[in-house]
Amino acid sequence: MALIVQKFGGTSVGSVERIQAVAQRVYKTVKTGNSLVVVVSAMGKTTDGLVKLATEISKNPCRREMDMLLSTGEQVSIALVSMALQELGQPAISLTGAQVGIVTEAEYTRARILHIETERIFKHLKEGKVVIVAGFQGISRTEDLEITTLGRGGSDTSAVAIAAALRADFCEIYTDVPGILTTDPRLVPEAQLMSEITCDEMLELASLGAKVLHPRAVEIARNYGVPLVVRSSWTDDPGTWVTSPQAKGRSLVNLEIARSVDDIAFDTEQAKVALLRVPDKPGVAARLFGEIARQDVDVDLIIQSIHEGNTNDIAFTVMTPILNKAEAVAAAIAPVLRSQKNPEAGEAEVMVQHNIAKVSIAGAGMIGRPGVAAKMFATLAEAGVNIQMISTSEIKVSCVIDDEECDRAVAALRQAFEIDTPQTRHGASLHPHPLVRGVALDMNQARLAIRQVQDRPGTAAKLFGLLADKNISVDMIIQSQRCHVVGGVPKRDIAFTVARMDAEAAQEMLQQAAVEYGWGEVVLDKAIAKVSIVGAGMIGQPGVAAKMFEALAQHHINIQMITTSEIKISCVVSQEEGVKALQAIHTAFGLAGSETFVIPA
Ligand code: ADP
Ligand code: ASP
Ligand code: MG
Repeated sequence: MALIVQKFGGTSVGSVERIQAVAQRVYKTVKTGNSLVVVVSAMGKTTDGLVKLATEISKNPCRREMDMLLSTGEQVSIALVSMALQELGQPAISLTGAQVGIVTEAEYTRARILHIETERIFKHLKEGKVVIVAGFQGISRTEDLEITTLGRGGSDTSAVAIAAALRADFCEIYTDVPGILTTDPRLVPEAQLMSEITCDEMLELASLGAKVLHPRAVEIARNYGVPLVVRSSWTDDPGTWVTSPQAKGRSLVNLEIARSVDDIAFDTEQAKVALLRVPDKPGVAARLFGEIARQDVDVDLIIQSIHEGNTNDIAFTVMTPILNKAEAVAAAIAPVLRSQKNPEAGEAEVMVQHNIAKVSIAGAGMIGRPGVAAKMFATLAEAGVNIQMISTSEIKVSCVIDDEECDRAVAALRQAFEIDTPQTRHGASLHPHPLVRGVALDMNQARLAIRQVQDRPGTAAKLFGLLADKNISVDMIIQSQRCHVVGGVPKRDIAFTVARMDAEAAQEMLQQAAVEYGWGEVVLDKAIAKVSIVGAGMIGQPGVAAKMFEALAQHHINIQMITTSEIKISCVVSQEEGVKALQAIHTAFGLAGSETFVIPA
C-alpha cells in the first residue's frame, strides 16, 4: 500500500491508444492496493502546435495570453485519461492546477511553485478515486487567480512537487525512453541505460539540455528527498532511479523559492598555473592536460578563454604541494606549443600564482535564478575581495581569490546567504561513482565576450547584476588570465554563455553599460555548442579532462572555451561540430553499448 505519483509525458498520452494504455497501467497499480495521483502533459506535440498558432498571430505574444493558451493542452489530456479510467470501471477525477490549488508566483510562462493545497486531492483519494492532475500549470495567489505555466517541460516539476506536498512514497516519470541514458539516444543510438544517477549529476545533465527530466523537478526531489524514477510507459522495465541525499525536512511553504544556497565551501593552499598565448587550434588542451595526467597531477578548476587574435589562455588550479610538478609540465610544454604555430603571436608564457583559495556557494536552487551568482559577486565586492577566476555549474558557483582574503570572503558569504551550519572544505565524495556518468550537448547557448573590463572588486558584481536584473541566467563565465594595463588600470576580457534566446537582449544591454563603465567591445557568437561530461567519480581523479580533450583533438575539433566544476567538464565548440563532439566523447569514455535504442514514433 503506497501513495504513488505517476507522470505521463506527451508521447505517452499522444493518441487514444496510448491514453488507453496509460489507463490500463494506472488501473493495474491501483488494483495492487496503491493510491494514485496521475500527472499528465498535453497530448503529443500539442503545446508546440499552440505555440506555433500564437506566433502566427503575434510575433511577440503577451505572456499572460500565452499561459492562457498553453494551459489548455493539459486540460484536454486529463479529461481523456479520466474518461479512459472510468471506462475500465475505475473511479477517477480530473483536476486543473487551479482546482487542486497549485499556487505559483504571478510570473507568466516561468512561474515557480510556492505551495500546493493537498486537501482536495486527499479527499478524492479517500473516496477511492484516482486523481488526474494537469501538469505544467498553476494559479497565482493574487486575487485575480491568474493561470500560470511553469515553463516548457514543466510537468515533471508539477509531478515531483505534488509528490513532495503529499509526502508520497515515490514519484514515477513515464516517458518514451527506458530511463536516463548516458546521452540523448536521438543523437547517439548506442547510448546505454543507467540504473541510477545522483541528483547532483542529474541536475548538471538536465540543465545541459538532457531534457528527459526538467531540472527543477530534480531540484525538488533533491531538496525534499522524493524518491524518483524515470521509466518507459511502453514496458515494465525498472528504469533509472535518481538518488537524493538525506532530505533536510524543509518546509513546504515557498516550495521552489525557499533557499537557493545551502552550503558555503572553501579550499585553501591552492595555486594557479596559467599558460598565456597558446595557439587556438585543435589538440592544444589535449597535449597539455595529457602530459599533466601522465605526471599524475590532479587539477581542480580548468578554464580556457579565447582572445582577440588567435591565441588562448588556459589556466588551472592545483593543490600547493604538487604545484612544482604542475609548473614544470607547463613550462616544458609551453615552447613546444608555440613552435607549432604562427610565431607572430609572440611567446607563450607560464604564469604561476601561489596562495590562492577557492570559495563556493552550492545549492540546487540556483537554476534559472541569475540573482544568486550576482549576489555572491556583490557580497565579495562589498568585502573588498577581488575575483581571479570564476567557475559556474548549475548547482555551484566557485570563485578563486587571494588566500589571505578567504576567511573574510567565507564570513561575508555565510552572512549574506544566512548559512549557519559550519562551513565545509571541498572534499571527495564518500561513495564510489563512475568517473563519467553521462555526456550532454547544449545547442541553445550563445557566447558573449566583453573586452577590457577593469580588474578590480565589483566588476563581476556589476556585470552579472545587470544581467540578473533582466532575469538573464549566465552559464559558463571565464575571465581571461592576461591583463592589459590601460591608462594605469589593469583590464581583462570576460566571456560567458547565455541562453541563445537571451543573447541579443544581453548584448544590447551590455553595449549600453560598456559605454557607461568604460568597457571595451561586446562580441556575440551564436553559432556555438556546449558539450559536457558529468560524473561524481571524477573528483580527485587525474586524467579525465585530458581524455575528453584528446577525444576532441582526434576529431580535429577546436575547443573555444573550457570550464569545470567538481563533477562536470564543459567545452564550447563550434555549432556545426557539436554532435560530432558529443559522439566522440561518448565513445572515448566507453559509454556506448552494443544495443541501440529505438524510440517510439
Ligand atoms: P516527455 O514528453 O515524456 O516529457 P521528453 O521529450 O520531454 O518526454 O523527454 C524525453 C526525451 O529526452 C527522449 O525522447 C530523449 O530524446 C531525450 N533525452 C535527452 N537526453 C537524454 C538522456 N540522457 N537520457 C534519456 N533521454 C534523453
Ligand atoms: N506540455 C508542456 C510542454 O510541452 C509541459 C510538458 O510536457 O512537460 O512543454
Ligand atoms: Mg518532458
